[in-house]
Amino acid sequence: MISAKGYATKHSYTRLKPYSFEREEPGAHDVEIDVLFCGVCHSDIHQVKNEWSNTVYPCVPGHEVVGRVTRVGANVQKHAVGDLVGVGCMIDSCRQCEPCKSGEENYCECPNSWLATYNGPMVPAKQAPGGQNVYGRENTFGGYSDILVVNQDFVLKIPAALKPEVAAPILCAGVTTYSPLKHWGVKAGDKVGVLGFGGLGDMAAKLAKAMGADVTVFTRTKEKLDEAARLGVQGVLESDQDGLKALKGSFDFILSTVPEKHDVNPFIALLKRDATLCVVGALEPLAGVNNQEVAFHRKSVAGSLIGSIADTQEVLDFCAAHNIGPDIEIIDIQEINDAYKKVIDGEVRFRYVIDMASLDKETDFNTF
Ligand SMILES: [Zn+2]
Ligand SMILES: [Zn+2]
Repeated sequence: MISAKGYATKHSYTRLKPYSFEREEPGAHDVEIDVLFCGVCHSDIHQVKNEWSNTVYPCVPGHEVVGRVTRVGANVQKHAVGDLVGVGCMIDSCRQCEPCKSGEENYCECPNSWLATYNGPMVPAKQAPGGQNVYGRENTFGGYSDILVVNQDFVLKIPAALKPEVAAPILCAGVTTYSPLKHWGVKAGDKVGVLGFGGLGDMAAKLAKAMGADVTVFTRTKEKLDEAARLGVQGVLESDQDGLKALKGSFDFILSTVPEKHDVNPFIALLKRDATLCVVGALEPLAGVNNQEVAFHRKSVAGSLIGSIADTQEVLDFCAAHNIGPDIEIIDIQEINDAYKKVIDGEVRFRYVIDMASLDKETDFNTF
């Protein structure tokens, strides 16, 4: 076993604290990674607080991980010691179901679904048919740590043109917004709406613009209109009834990145005939949809979950080629609990990225 250090929480009501634990030695197909940076995703907060009622404790969050390869197993061909690599939301999948075989591991249909970078299988054994546990593990520890061991097939290559700290949030926020833009065929000249202008919305707006789309972001925050202007996209306040009315029936695609229950009806009205509104931010029941608006113009309301490994590599390469990336602020791991509070209070418009070298400042690691 390898001894690892990180930050973890023991219960939903405790703060993240220094934690020492053990990881498996890399197997023949595994890559050992020295973690340099880890992005802070809103999912980390949901998970730490057990807001999806599935958290396994101790919980070491972090699924926007960038680091350097320090060791590889005997059969590893894709990565070499010294490579700058990334790990996103998944570290394995069944590889046998139809979605896995068609390269869409993020929709793995095996009894436990895919194996998440932290918090274990998406469907825990106790909820799986017959208590099945195809990965043989109940918990996994994420990137708020100094070291990670991951199967080579779930390790991404970080393009040289991307700074490692900027690449980190692309591994979740980037692919979560890129995958639906690609799936619904967003192309140059399309009119694309982005609902919500936080970490996901920022990436969605930049990606859609780089695809050549005419982008409008919808926000509740007046100050974010300036941010939209800075990005070179239109900004509209959600409360601006006249502004919304003027845009009725004009969008080819709308992506909702709002991370909580919200009303999509005013935005369905903005879609053209046959167009789709896709929700990626909220994994919970939404306010009811008025099907009159949907049916009268054959519109669709859809959802999308992160993206495949291939899409993740593609969005990293796309960001490098188009010189785009998230707006980030680097923090030390010691600031993580305050950072969570600011994210919850909606005080940040950039993505926090943890500089994992700050773990070295800790002298006292808990085992819980
Ligand atoms: Zn995430
Ligand atoms: Zn599968």
